[in-house]
Amino acid sequence: MISLSRLMGGRNERGDSVRFPTSERKYPAVLILGLTRNCNLNCLHCYSNSGGAKFIDLPLDFWLRTVEEAGSMGVRHIVLTGGEPLMMREVREIARHAQDRGISVEISTNGTVLRTSLPPLAEYVNYVGVSLDGPPQVHDELRGLKGAHRKALEGARFAKSLGLKVGLRFTITALNWWYVDEALNTVERERLDRICFYHLAYVGRAERALDVDNSTRLNVVEHLLDKAKGVNYELLTADNPVDGILAYLITGKPELLNLLRANGGNRSGERVAYISPEGVVYPDQFTPVPIGVGPHLKELWDGPAPLVEKLRERRRYVECSSCPFFPVCNGGLRGRALAVTGDLWAKDPSCYLQEALSRHPISVQEYTTSHVNPHNG
Ligand code: SF4
Repeated sequence: MISLSRLMGGRNERGDSVRFPTSERKYPAVLILGLTRNCNLNCLHCYSNSGGAKFIDLPLDFWLRTVEEAGSMGVRHIVLTGGEPLMMREVREIARHAQDRGISVEISTNGTVLRTSLPPLAEYVNYVGVSLDGPPQVHDELRGLKGAHRKALEGARFAKSLGLKVGLRFTITALNWWYVDEALNTVERERLDRICFYHLAYVGRAERALDVDNSTRLNVVEHLLDKAKGVNYELLTADNPVDGILAYLITGKPELLNLLRANGGNRSGERVAYISPEGVVYPDQFTPVPIGVGPHLKELWDGPAPLVEKLRERRRYVECSSCPFFPVCNGGLRGRALAVTGDLWAKDPSCYLQEALSRHPISVQEYTTSHVNPHNG
């Protein structure tokens, strides 16, 4: 994730130690657990192909052992997702198990069942991220249920009323990109804590045809960077690290490079990993190439598993690794490259660097000097 509010507004957040770490780690800091494919919605852009049928979840014991393993690996955050994670019967036990091990618990939810399902586990939850993809008509269309927007917003308000940290998750698509201001206004009006804009990844039911083109993407991110200068909440983007480079190109501030260097760009399979509802371990939710099978995660990173090894060395494989910004980007989202080209190591098709450079020219020499001089900024 790229914290635009940190880059543009200097706003510090608790999650900065994960977003801008000061040292390398052997194991992931963030583990995303896809607890279930069951869901009461049927979203057009669902990355996990959830909903629409009844799925059998893995036994609780699998997830408890996974959490124990995560604890022994020093995982800092667990994100409970799905499907709709609150529809998984034993979600409370999993959240409690994580909290008992000092792991921060985040829930990624469609928000519609928060009022009924959140209270039993609220004491074990640190953050609730509610998906909201625009105003009612647009959100309901994307989510496949009339009234989904109203319920999601009510759910976010309810979670907030319990004293929890709550934010929105907005996926940028061709159907909603011009509503980003409406989403920002919602965060402000509802006094929420965060909003994260996700770039679409073409996996599950999310097809490339639903995405914006790269000029539009660049326009949207430029706009968000401008807004991020003065927000009183956390404003992030996810799944396209070139957004951080754009912040540098616009501001020309070399000190931003220190933050981007610490962030390291896409670190799927290194600092982040995902476990599917079937117990398969992947680099992230959007890259359907397995690393191995849970719950014995440690050995996958100790081994390391072949994919972990290659991801650690991705500079040797990724098509665009000669890009001068590779050290702060790491080549973007592998899953999107795979979806479009069939090659895991191809260029991320959502990279808009060339157009960004033509709008905000900065000499490569200027960048290289800033980049290689540790005292600069
Ligand atoms: S060309 Fe590759 S490394 Fe450079 S900004 Fe784009 S995705 Fe990142």
